[in-house]
Amino acid sequence: MLMTVSIRASLMLSALAMAALTAAFVDPPETADTAKTSAHPAHWSYGGEGGPEHWSELAPENKPCATGLQQSPVDLAGAMTASVAVPQSHWAPARGAMIINNGHTIQVDLNNSGGITLNGKEYALKQFHFHHPSEHTIDGKQFPLEVHLVHAAKDGDLAVVGVMFAEGAANMNLDAIWATAPGREGKAAVAFEIDVSKFLPKTPDAFRYEGSLTTPPCSETVHWTVMAAPLTASPGQISAFSMLFPWNARPVQPLNRRYVLKSSG
Ligand SMILES: [Zn+2]
Repeated sequence: MLMTVSIRASLMLSALAMAALTAAFVDPPETADTAKTSAHPAHWSYGGEGGPEHWSELAPENKPCATGLQQSPVDLAGAMTASVAVPQSHWAPARGAMIINNGHTIQVDLNNSGGITLNGKEYALKQFHFHHPSEHTIDGKQFPLEVHLVHAAKDGDLAVVGVMFAEGAANMNLDAIWATAPGREGKAAVAFEIDVSKFLPKTPDAFRYEGSLTTPPCSETVHWTVMAAPLTASPGQISAFSMLFPWNARPVQPLNRRYVLKSSG
């Protein structure tokens, strides 16, 4: 009798211990936490089984990638010229920046680097990253490179400024960033100053529309501004990026019931 009790007790104890161990082993931070906190759940990519047409199947929170009606990028065609609000930038030289190769792009994380005002609301500059080829197209034309300057308001609202690069003269910012960027997934501290305003063309014309993140989970929380005039990057700068990321652009998405507005001046 005693034996039975003690066996049962020890079984119960070991069951508890097992439960605790199992919990510790099957619920590591990589699976439980990243899914909640990262905008980039594991296993998505730009081709094959993890490619854009499968993003919605990879995680429940990626549903908007397939069902959303305000997805990005889009072809910026047939835009109506209007007196539309464009962001007013007040960027500051980047301090404490980190350059990250996250396996999907080269991203530069920034602190205290100013931001933009859009429709009277403040958005702080959080990071910028690159796509090759461009994700947005302008009247069907795809550019070899596009930078996304990602800004966030205190309430989580996002405002992204996209700028195209055509092939031409070298862009001064890119050499230093490319030279510091890790060749495989990892981080590197930035030991130089990044003048974000060098990513803005002189011509202020811009397209404005309401859209989404162009990567999973494709959340429809982005006020998009895409500058109409491209900057230039040298053939060497473009090929240096494409060596790391041969194709990291989501295909253009249907506009559905949205309008693209174009500011002038
Ligand atoms: Zn992007």
